[in-house]
Amino acid sequence: MSVLDVLKSPASRVLAPMDCTPEIIDLPAPDRVLIPLEYPGKILFRPLVQVGDEVVCNQVIGRSDRNNFIHASISGKVVEMRTMWAARSFHVPAVVIEKSDAPPLSGDELLRQCDIDPRSPTRLDLLRAAGVISPWTTPGRDDSEADLGDYPDIEQIVIKGMNQEPTICSFRLLLRTRSGEVQQALRRLSEIAPQARILLAVCKADAQWAGDTFSGLADVAPLSNNFRDRIERKYVRRLTGVKVPNKASYRSGGIAVISVEQLLDMYDALEGLPCIRKTITISSGKEFTPVTVRTALGTSIGDLLASQGLVVEDGDRVIMGGPMAGTAQFTLETPLSKFQAGIHVLKAKDIIADVNLICVNCGRCTQACSSNLQVHLIGRCVEFDQLAEATTYYPGACIECGLCAFVCPAHRPLVQMVKMAANYRG
Ligand code: SF4
Ligand code: SF4
Repeated sequence: MSVLDVLKSPASRVLAPMDCTPEIIDLPAPDRVLIPLEYPGKILFRPLVQVGDEVVCNQVIGRSDRNNFIHASISGKVVEMRTMWAARSFHVPAVVIEKSDAPPLSGDELLRQCDIDPRSPTRLDLLRAAGVISPWTTPGRDDSEADLGDYPDIEQIVIKGMNQEPTICSFRLLLRTRSGEVQQALRRLSEIAPQARILLAVCKADAQWAGDTFSGLADVAPLSNNFRDRIERKYVRRLTGVKVPNKASYRSGGIAVISVEQLLDMYDALEGLPCIRKTITISSGKEFTPVTVRTALGTSIGDLLASQGLVVEDGDRVIMGGPMAGTAQFTLETPLSKFQAGIHVLKAKDIIADVNLICVNCGRCTQACSSNLQVHLIGRCVEFDQLAEATTYYPGACIECGLCAFVCPAHRPLVQMVKMAANYRG
């Protein structure tokens, strides 16, 4: 059987995007939030509060070296400052706030907290004060705070109007339910970057509607239901015609890639509203109807699942992200941060018992690989602790699409193995 046969097999139906629930449910803020002060490999915020401080919603609680800010997503008291497990399995510092009824901070007060004159803020001031890290200010593949240096001007902007993971529909729902604001935001975007061509990537099912709704504001690019067609790195290359190496940032190719949620966050920021809430799709097995909610940043996974009556039982796995490229979580305390769009609970009965079997050299992983890597060789090297050897097969070019692990008959954790090799520093 060829890889194509595998991808066409009934099992591959999980790779088609899931049907959307028709609306986004606004959840009340939880009693307690954990706000991470570090986005590993991205930004480190210095805390501006200490244990015992009373804070109000929208208040700045951390500042980075380049004057990006992070905010309290609820009013309350800082009860702890400690480390916690972030979604991608890093241990990072965090501020723990317990809720009070104090009113939120106003927009002008927020700007003053950021040392910005509210009478004449620049667009960049407003974005930074709101905690929105725009692609104009961050060149890195992971939104790091590196110096912009010699990066070229942005000539093309790709807006993600659908999620890569088949179980997540937050971007698609935002596009549909806030289409009026998206139109306004696209107009603002054209003012900010008048030279740039704006492309809006949407699900095939939304093509006609999006073409009519965003006519004259963006070039609508429908993507098929085939998972390969929705792999971000691949379709950005296809739509823009620019070959940015997998390890490089889009910005180095004159491209900015943002989700429709980031576009709306930018629009809100320019209106003086800080980014303190996040939209996320919660999914599980067949018995659970997926739901997309919007809630305060810092809400724990446990609170999010409980809000939908989802109970995590012995043997279940909670994955931040989706089943293709998500990360299994160590604890339900891990909070929602700005970079997550989905939580998937894999029930114990749906987990394949025989995992990490011996590689049978079938080559499917390598044939399926979106980056043309020798995945089986990297996996073998990692398995036998030959990490230096593994790095010679360019694991850093992996775009974490998850296809290799999906097609592997031995159910080997290939994405994790490749990531381990990519992160090896000798
Ligand atoms: S996740 Fe697997 S298939 Fe996808 S790019 Fe990385 S190694 Fe290749
Ligand atoms: S790692 Fe899996 S898919 Fe790749 S060659 Fe080995 S058994 Fe086949």
